[in-house]
Amino acid sequence: PDWASYTLGVFICLSCSGIHRNIPQISKVKSVRLDAWDEAQVEFMASHGNEAARATFESKVPSFYYRPTFSDCQLLREQWIRAKYERQEFIIPEKQEPYSAGYREGFLWKRGRDNGQFLSRKFVLTEREGALKYFNRNDAKEPKAVMKIEHLNATFQPAKIGHPHGLQVTYLKDNSTRNIFIYHEDGKEIVDWFNALRAARFHYLQVAFPGASDADLVPKLSRNYLKEGYMEKTGPKQTEGFRKRWFTMDDRRLMYFKDPLDAFARGEVFIGSKESGYTVLEGLPPSTQGHHWPHGITIVTPDRKFLFTCETELDRREWVEAFQKVVDRPMLPQEYAVEAHFKHKP
Ligand SMILES: [Zn+2]
Repeated sequence: PDWASYTLGVFICLSCSGIHRNIPQISKVKSVRLDAWDEAQVEFMASHGNEAARATFESKVPSFYYRPTFSDCQLLREQWIRAKYERQEFIIPEKQEPYSAGYREGFLWKRGRDNGQFLSRKFVLTEREGALKYFNRNDAKEPKAVMKIEHLNATFQPAKIGHPHGLQVTYLKDNSTRNIFIYHEDGKEIVDWFNALRAARFHYLQVAFPGASDADLVPKLSRNYLKEGYMEKTGPKQTEGFRKRWFTMDDRRLMYFKDPLDAFARGEVFIGSKESGYTVLEGLPPSTQGHHWPHGITIVTPDRKFLFTCETELDRREWVEAFQKVVDRPMLPQEYAVEAHFKHKP
């Protein structure tokens, strides 16, 4: 790190320095190399430092709370810095109530299925019922959807949703993935929702897997996608030509959509492991026709071959890498059950 907060006594990266600069009442930023440092400031840095700051400002981070890394979106990194230093939520546990109480309700902007307009909807998260619900009308008795915490995932997707606070929530309905897209104007609110969902998943998993340690459960609270983007695909007969679709690789589920913001996938493919007969190959079988993009990928499953094409070589490399990662990982016992569900799909 080339930057430092000389009021907090911590070294930070360039990208975080921009966030710190926006909280001048807490943090004042200088370049380690380019700015002048007086003796007292150097001494302050030497007597504090990142480790000491962590011991103070992170002393009570709940284990379910999402700790962003450099690759996370601006919102998550900014709210982490504000929660840690400005609001001191990890020193004062009472401040964690918005995401640790096991119940949360409020209004969020939800993207409408038909016209893509965002509409204000009431959401209720209850750990006791193991569900996240939303209501189409304020006075509605019955929720429009009940999303079970067991199958819930949430991931920030600002670029795709077109809002810096855009959150994608997915759940399973009849074993198919459903998407909703939500945001709140206030960055703290939507990150609190995100951590409340993670807390609810954490408590659900603690009950479902009583012997598991926190370290086992925390990676299961929410998933970021291995890769997303456009590819072309062809149908099972491989004679109907290739069509451009939006693909999402979510753990072992490869889903494709006509539009990136569709409520549900047009199709889902389970990607197992090499031991169970799944292979990823660069290129297409000879004499394959009807594709517009040049860089082919073939996925061989026990049932059939899937053919895809990418627009650029870099894109193909990233997709192959994502598929390979999943194929190289041995399947867990519960994943065989998921695979069986896919096989019995019409
Ligand atoms: Zn940073």
